[in-house]
Order: sequence, then C-alpha cells, then structure tokens
Amino acid sequence: MQHVIVGNGIVALSTAFRLAQRLKGSDTVTVIGPCDRPGAATMAAAAMLNSFAEISAYSLKSKEDRYHFALSRRAAQQWPDFEKELVDAARGVGSACDAISRGEQDRGTYIINNTAADEWDDKNFDAMVKALEDFKEPFTFVHPGEIPNYLPAQHERAARAIYIPDEGWLNPRIVIETLDTILSGHDRVTVIDGEARRFRKSGDAISGVELADGTVVEGDAFLLATGASASALLDASDLGIAMQPVFYGLGVSIEIRSEGHPHTKCVRTTNRGGACGIYSVPLFLGKNGPKDHLVIGASNRVINKPVLYGRLSAVEHLMRSAMQEINGHFYAADLVRVNVGWRPTSQDTYPLLGKTSVGNLCIATGTKRDGFHLSPVLSDIMATLMTGGSAEKEFDMFAPERKVIRDIPRQDAVEMIVNSLMSEQYQHGYNPSNVLMNAQVRETYRKDIEALHDRIGAKDWGIHPELVNMYREGHAK
Ligand SMILES: Cc1cc2nc3c(=O)[nH]c(=O)nc-3n(C[C@H](O)[C@H](O)[C@H](O)COP(=O)(O)OP(=O)(O)OC[C@H]3O[C@@H](n4cnc5c(N)ncnc54)[C@H](O)[C@@H]3O)c2cc1C
Repeated sequence: MQHVIVGNGIVALSTAFRLAQRLKGSDTVTVIGPCDRPGAATMAAAAMLNSFAEISAYSLKSKEDRYHFALSRRAAQQWPDFEKELVDAARGVGSACDAISRGEQDRGTYIINNTAADEWDDKNFDAMVKALEDFKEPFTFVHPGEIPNYLPAQHERAARAIYIPDEGWLNPRIVIETLDTILSGHDRVTVIDGEARRFRKSGDAISGVELADGTVVEGDAFLLATGASASALLDASDLGIAMQPVFYGLGVSIEIRSEGHPHTKCVRTTNRGGACGIYSVPLFLGKNGPKDHLVIGASNRVINKPVLYGRLSAVEHLMRSAMQEINGHFYAADLVRVNVGWRPTSQDTYPLLGKTSVGNLCIATGTKRDGFHLSPVLSDIMATLMTGGSAEKEFDMFAPERKVIRDIPRQDAVEMIVNSLMSEQYQHGYNPSNVLMNAQVRETYRKDIEALHDRIGAKDWGIHPELVNMYREGHAK
C-alpha cells in the first residue's frame, strides 16, 4: 500500500509518523509539502496544549462542541507519551535529539481575569472555572500577585486568577524539526519538497497527485492535509467533493527575548472578542538553549485568500498588550520574530476530518485554533482510517462532506457577536463618554448583526462570531 500525504504541517506530519510506525510488507509513505511552509499555522502557533483554558461562556452547549472538547481532553492525556514516542523515534534514526521540551516543567498555565477588555472576560472566566469544577480537573485560585513574572500596568492588573497545572505547551518548530528528522530518516518514507497542484482521478478513485513542477506522485491511499489551503486544492482538482469552505484565519504571534524577565509558566487571559485573548508562553530552545524567549499571541482575522504578512496593528496590539497586561519590563525585550500563520477555519468552525465520497481520499483540516494540541489524537484516527480501519461513531460529526453545522441559535449568536465586538473595541482603547453612549453602540451593532442574519436567511440559526465578515462579503453562504 502506497500512502500519499499532501501537506507538511503538524496534522500531515503526525499522521505520516503514525503511518510509518504501522507499515507492513512493502508499504510506503510519501509526504508532499514545501519545506519553507509559507503560511503554515503550525509554525506560528504558541502550541499551547489547552483544553479548559479555551472554554468560554458559550462552550459545551452542543453535542459537536462537547465531542470536540472530549477529543481535546484525550489529546491532553496523550501528549506526554506522544512526546516520548517522538524522541525515541528520532533517536532511532540516529538523531542526537534528547528532548523536545522540559517535560513536567513545561506544564502549568495561569489564567488571569483583568480589566483590559470588558465584562465578557468575567463571564468566560466563570464558565471556565465551572467546567474545571464539573470535570473535576485540578486547578487552584491564586493571588495574581503570586504569578511568576507577572507585572502588569496597575490599571490592567487582574483581580482574579487560577492555575491549571496540567495544561502546557511546546515549541512547534522543534516538534516539526523532530518529525522532519524522523520521516526523512525512515527508509520507507519519501519526503518531497514541492507543492501539489491537483489530485488526479481515475474512475472512482484518486490515482495520483500532480505537483507544480508537473511530476505526478501515484499512490493507493491519499490524505489532503494542507491546512487553510485545502479548499483551493480541492477546487483545482474537480473531484465532485462538496466540502464547506475552509478560510484563512490569519494569525500573528511574536517571539521576544526578555532578558532578566524570563517566563517559566504560561500566563494568559480567557478567549476574547473573536480571538484567543492575550497569552505569553515560555519558548523551549533546547536543553542548553536560552531560557528567556517567549511567544506572545495572537491575532485572528478570517479572510478568504492567503495573505503572507500580518498587519502592523496586529503586531502593535500584541506588543502593547504584553507590556500592559503581562509584564511592563517587556518594553526592553527584543523582538526576535513575527510569525504569520493561517488557522484553517471552516465555515462552521468545526474540523473537517475523515473519509470522503472518493473511496481512497481522506481529509484532515479545519482545526482552527487547536490543531497542534489535537494532533496525537487526530493522527492516530486518520492513520487508522487510511489503513482501512474505522473510527468511533461520533467522529462522523466532523466528516468533510457533512452539512454545515448550525449549532448556535440566532439570538445566542447575535449576543455573542455583539459581545465579541464590544470586547474587541475595549481592547483597542474604546472609552464611551457615558453609559447611554455605550448602550447606543451596542444597539447599533445589534441592529447591524440582526440585519445581516435577515439578509442571509438565518432565521433559526446564528453566525459564528469569527465568520461574520465571510457571511457579510458573501464568501460563506
Ligand atoms: C498565531 C497562531 C497561534 C496558534 N496557537 C495554537 C496553540 O496554542 N495551540 C494549538 O493547538 N493550535 C494553535 N494554533 C492552531 C494550529 O496552529 C493549527 O490548528 C494547526 O497548526 C493546523 O495544522 P495543519 O497541519 O492542518 O495546517 P498548517 O500548519 O497550516 O500546515 C499546512 C501545510 O500544508 C502545506 N501546503 C499548503 N498547500 C499545499 C499544497 N498545495 N501542496 C503541498 N503542501 C501544501 C503548507 O505549506 C503547510 O506547511 C495557532 C495558530 C495560529 C495561526
């Protein structure tokens, strides 16, 4: 059996890794993707391994969201073993790799509830605490003043904070480097530095992948895992697969070097206003590497085409929020790198995973904000599907050709969107002159969002806050 994987982000490479572990007889794996990975979400990720820290006031209300959360919790349990498997496999191909993280030390996330945005943060914080209690996940309330390396501006300091000991992070570049080493060193894996132009179909099945240089890679089982550009490749291939669109969730994160003020733990807010709030994560650069680098993230702008650069306003917002909300001493930090990546964001915001109506083609994309974290679980299931096995029944909820999931009632969506927009405004310095003005701004937003729902015929379902512009501009229908 010849397995061909198109894409080389975390989802593609972790699946290739699982397949390589399971090869029998003369089986092979081929991985296709450009080695510089332009726009890869994986390379911009802070790679936080968060489940509970991502909970917001509207989480866990639908069966799809609860199942997504169940996968996320499973991933959290699997990461420590997966990490060991990666290190062992790298050593197995002769690499000197001795660690891809500091293990236990790279776990522990503080979530702060501050006044930099608005009361929406408080609701999300309360919902997160409730979920931690309901699921009996270990956590403690801490005095914000005790959070290591936390020195915010006085007027943006947190009034409440919790510590979740088991939610950690990784350096995605080291993980990808390790996977590249393992796969290139495997005698039955071929890694091609190239770009797929389209899939070729023969009869009812895919026969090969045509690359930009005209080469054709043939195979028996195929996986499309190119992140946000999955829709473009499907469109170019004309396979008759009706998959909802995947958009480009343009995200910016920055790497800084904070000499004298290094982080030892992740410090972040709850999710806010259509994005993941502000977070600061220690960056592991090898056992003997520098210990004062951090990743600050992240912005989110959902668009319908690839854009290679982030906006100055996104970088400015991250730098300012990091100095104001996390540590004033970051004013003297060095800006090491600006990362730009496209979160693969499906129209209904849920992942697109599994087999398709073309017998030998699977798809794995749409992981939006947590594809790195989910990768141990997704790679296991995708490798099983590609080798003729089956997944648990619930996995079908995320089948690539499913109908768009409409799990938010219209009134909830309108409230969520208005709350998100207000939160966004507060984060960017909005300061109403009085309470009446605030009510008026909210009402203007509400009318506009109600009108958008009317215009697109969304009577009993609502638009996800991140997708408002895609519906407004007619890219989502
Ligand atoms: C700023 C930011 C912060 C994030 N933080 C986190 C986090 O803390 N935790 C978390 O779990 N997730 C996080 N995410 C989300 C996470 O990065 C994604 O869910 C995940 O990386 C998606 O992986 P992927 O492999 O599907 O896509 P990608 O990483 O985008 O990889 C797709 C790959 O396919 C290649 N490709 C594209 N087109 C072709 C083609 N035609 N032929 C061949 N190859 C092609 C690309 O070059 C790319 O390398 C973040 C994302 C961003 C942008």
